[in-house]
Amino acid sequence: MKQLFSGGIHPEGYKELSRGGAPVPVPAPETVCIPLRQHIGSSCEPLVKVGDAVLMGQKIGDGEGRCSPVHSSVSGTVTAIEEREIPGGDRVQCVIIKNDGKDSPAPMQGHASWLSLSAKEVAAIVRECGIVGMGGAAFPTDSKIASTAGKTGDVLINACECEPYITSDDTEMCCYTADVIGGAKLLCKVLGAKKSIIAVEDNKPEAIEALKKEAGGDESVEIRVLPTRYPQGAKKQLILAVTGREVAPGARSGALFNVTTTASVYRAVMKGQPMIEKIVTVTGDGANEPKNMLVRVGTSFAQVIEAAGGIKEETKQVIAGGPMMGKGVGSLDVPVVKGTNAILCLTKECDAAADPVCIRCGKCVDVCPMQLQPLYLYRYAKAGDKEMLGEYYLNDCMECGCCSFVCPGRLPLTATFVEAKHMLKKGGR
Ligand code: SF4
Ligand code: SF4
Repeated sequence: MKQLFSGGIHPEGYKELSRGGAPVPVPAPETVCIPLRQHIGSSCEPLVKVGDAVLMGQKIGDGEGRCSPVHSSVSGTVTAIEEREIPGGDRVQCVIIKNDGKDSPAPMQGHASWLSLSAKEVAAIVRECGIVGMGGAAFPTDSKIASTAGKTGDVLINACECEPYITSDDTEMCCYTADVIGGAKLLCKVLGAKKSIIAVEDNKPEAIEALKKEAGGDESVEIRVLPTRYPQGAKKQLILAVTGREVAPGARSGALFNVTTTASVYRAVMKGQPMIEKIVTVTGDGANEPKNMLVRVGTSFAQVIEAAGGIKEETKQVIAGGPMMGKGVGSLDVPVVKGTNAILCLTKECDAAADPVCIRCGKCVDVCPMQLQPLYLYRYAKAGDKEMLGEYYLNDCMECGCCSFVCPGRLPLTATFVEAKHMLKKGGR
């Protein structure tokens, strides 16, 4: 099959470790920790106070501007509102709720006859349910619907899940196929598009078959199978691979939605279901029994890991997400948030060499999907040379990890670029 974007790699997938079967529900925890910021944009303000009783699915935080509300994933009592660490290392205000074990639900209003809804109405429902992008960026989905309605040819649905190890989107497609196809049809209709294209890599045969069967002959949905390649799920690379169109630097990408986000939009519209539960892959050679789990938002990583069968003593590193773009967690007390798709447990740390040396082999340049020159970026990042970092387009780096993956000198390229971006943002040297 033709491959359209340049660079990229073919790392070992390890998908077979966790793939297959329905997600296993994690028992509801005694306490949940719901962060008031789980998305790109401004933080929510709490709508509850300590001592308040809350229902499962009740909105407990909201705010102005680009903000996505958060909801309680259990019924119970608010015991604290305090700063806690979340995956990624940030510390944010969180609402702590003691579970009463009753799962008393907040009222939900569905719109089974969604054909009559406008994009504005769908965006309002999606916002109220706290749906955010689940492909990594956690961008509020209502903003994307509002900004692309009536302005898009096709809706592109990202079902690539190209990061090694992770199979949560794959499980979503196999087990909640009707929600995925329903969401694809819904987005096509409300955005005024010609069709929705679900782009899925060829290493997910069961999902492809299930999607094709569910879509039937409906012309508003196309299942587009792509060759497996990392980082095909990245925005620019996927648009290029599917449409042949390049997205200019700084330009908007159009109507592009992650596949689990698409299913969540459908559930929000059809049932009024807020974003309080998600599929999380627990995997890696450190996991005793890799599998997919159905987890309430706010459950700690420790509880998810325990419910999945625990981890081996030799486990050295736990990562929120995949090995390429995920972030190591310092504590297993961090809660699962809307954007958590995997908990990767590894018995080896992906450390750089103690004394890394660039042998100028050029491999990092060959694989960079953004056509950057990582070896020079590394040199200028180490020297703190802001001007040269700008000239070598540091900000175009999407932190995909391809350069670090292939570097024979084991230079910590991607980690250095992340640090350099922080340095530039803070106005450092
Ligand atoms: S891959 Fe590593 S060793 Fe090779 S040129 Fe790039 S930085 Fe240098
Ligand atoms: S991490 Fe950045 S520099 Fe390295 S390959 Fe990816 S985009 Fe290129």
